[in-house]
Amino acid sequence: MPELPEVETVANGVNERIRGERIKSVWLSRYKEPFKTPPDPMSEALTGSRIDLVHRIGKHIVFDLSQNKKPLQWIVHLGMTGRLLVSSPDVPVPSHTHAVLTLSSGRELRFVDARRFGRLALHSTSGSEPSAPFQGPGREPLTISADDFAALFRHRKLPIKAALLNQKLLHGVGNIYADESLFRAGIRPTRIAGRLTRVQLDKLHAALQDILRKAISLGGSSVSDYVDADGVAGFFQLEHRVYMRTGQPCLVCETPIRRTLLAGRGTHYCPQCQR
Ligand SMILES: [Zn+2]
Repeated sequence: MPELPEVETVANGVNERIRGERIKSVWLSRYKEPFKTPPDPMSEALTGSRIDLVHRIGKHIVFDLSQNKKPLQWIVHLGMTGRLLVSSPDVPVPSHTHAVLTLSSGRELRFVDARRFGRLALHSTSGSEPSAPFQGPGREPLTISADDFAALFRHRKLPIKAALLNQKLLHGVGNIYADESLFRAGIRPTRIAGRLTRVQLDKLHAALQDILRKAISLGGSSVSDYVDADGVAGFFQLEHRVYMRTGQPCLVCETPIRRTLLAGRGTHYCPQCQR
């Protein structure tokens, strides 16, 4: 499952390749799962639009489009196995392709998703029922201030790991970066969020932002010729200090790393370094 840094890498890669292009035609598959907006209105709205910017919000890839100066957003969520590919038309279309956008350069933007947990939707910011630009459900972990970050967890009676994964609080933080940031901050994942001190929350805030930025910078350099969420998944693995290191010695104190289940997710921590 792509996490925030992978999604950011894909969004940046797509943006570099196709920003400024116009969508000439649209083909969508007959499967209903990927389409949060029905295929016909989606295809109609996308056709003829100009791609002004592609960026990440939470774990969503957001295409800022304009059609006759009217703004519109196309929202892509990669789900478990979704991929966005920028391809020359002579490259065979992979199986499990659910969307093909033919661009003014002749290249194609393809959305491929074998397990169909990915989602495509339109977000209208003009027209008869205009809404605010797409925001996602929670706060943005990369840019949230230390004050706002601390405020998110005040009075919360759930474990800090579960709070980090709650997309309504912070959007885009997944299992790997929750475990890794808690290790770097020296906080046991089971600690009740509302009982952490401000000093601990400040450490966690700094650790989370630092680790996400590092992952993005590593991911950015690992994707060269094409954009492929699968191709970058796990690119951060060399840097893992606790995630999936059950039983291996802690890199700081050599105590074996433990694994427990928390909020239904495998959770990795050092019982010595994290209190
Ligand atoms: Zn340790």
